[in-house]
Amino acid sequence: MIKRRLAREIEIGGVKIGGKQPISVQSMTNTETADWKATLGQIRRLEKAGCELARVALNTEGALKALPELVKRSPLPLIADIQFDWRMAIGALKAGVAGLRLNPGNLRRDWQVKAVVEEAMPRKVPIRVGVNAGSLDQRMLKKYHGPSAEAMVASALKEIGLLEDLGFEWIKVSLKSSDVVETVRAYQLLAKRVAYPFHLGITEAGARLRGAVLSAMGIGILLSQGIGDTIRVSLSAPPEDEVRVGWMILSGLGIRRRGVEVIACPTCARAEFDVMKNAEALERKLAGIRKPLRVAVMGCIVNGPGEARVSDLAAVGTARGAQLYVRGKKVKVIPSRELVPTLVKLAEEFEDQS
Ligand code: SF4
Repeated sequence: MIKRRLAREIEIGGVKIGGKQPISVQSMTNTETADWKATLGQIRRLEKAGCELARVALNTEGALKALPELVKRSPLPLIADIQFDWRMAIGALKAGVAGLRLNPGNLRRDWQVKAVVEEAMPRKVPIRVGVNAGSLDQRMLKKYHGPSAEAMVASALKEIGLLEDLGFEWIKVSLKSSDVVETVRAYQLLAKRVAYPFHLGITEAGARLRGAVLSAMGIGILLSQGIGDTIRVSLSAPPEDEVRVGWMILSGLGIRRRGVEVIACPTCARAEFDVMKNAEALERKLAGIRKPLRVAVMGCIVNGPGEARVSDLAAVGTARGAQLYVRGKKVKVIPSRELVPTLVKLAEEFEDQS
């Protein structure tokens, strides 16, 4: 049982973050925000994949212009990602975004931070202080001899202080680096210093496989220690994949489940059908199912019946064909070529029962 760090609770467009609230999954669009139709299409795909908060980069005047339409039509609460321009933050707030991500230290003047806070405060729009090891200021890098955990924490505390001095406490914090060990250490250190909720992620983690592995390590270690309130897996891949990996991390730790988990054996010479091909086809075809469902695809009777008994649906290879299990009970043997359509049909029936 994981003992969770009890962070202060905030709310982003109806999604509660911190305290004992469910750990939410978020992602970021990679379309041109200015192209609101393409961005909205991606947000809808993210929502289907299980995303709960969507972030969009606010990098151009065109992006700012597209924002009201996106806010109006988005099925998910929107967070605007601001880098240096305080006017973009003000514009985003006026357009109705539910959250902001910025580094107060990147805004050049104190009055600019104040202007943003004055717009965010009455709207109860939280601000994520997003510290990134790749963009720490030179003084921090010099003082701490590089982008260490200590440098990230000191930078976060400084940025948090700028907001607190203005009486603003709807804060969420992230400390991202591509170094898993330093990232984990940074969050652990900051957890001892502040009570704000944490957004977890490993930045620039890489393409699908490397990114998923590094994210699962970093985010998984922290969540298993009770640290973290919302997660974003960063992959150089379609953002829907980030969401899928995010859910796999949460379900792997027994924290939250959503959609179908396809359990498949690694296969060996004993396999009675092509486990890999069938498992991949099932993952693809069952991606739209929202109800938590465990589907096992096992090559033979060595480990198959054991997995089948603890799964909602299962197919186990036998010399006569695929033995089908429903809710742990043997149902019938079907030809292996019917395995995918049969399990898809049964999974859809499970979804309809909800
Ligand atoms: S379940 Fe059977 S086929 Fe699959 S890895 Fe184990 S022994 Fe091999």
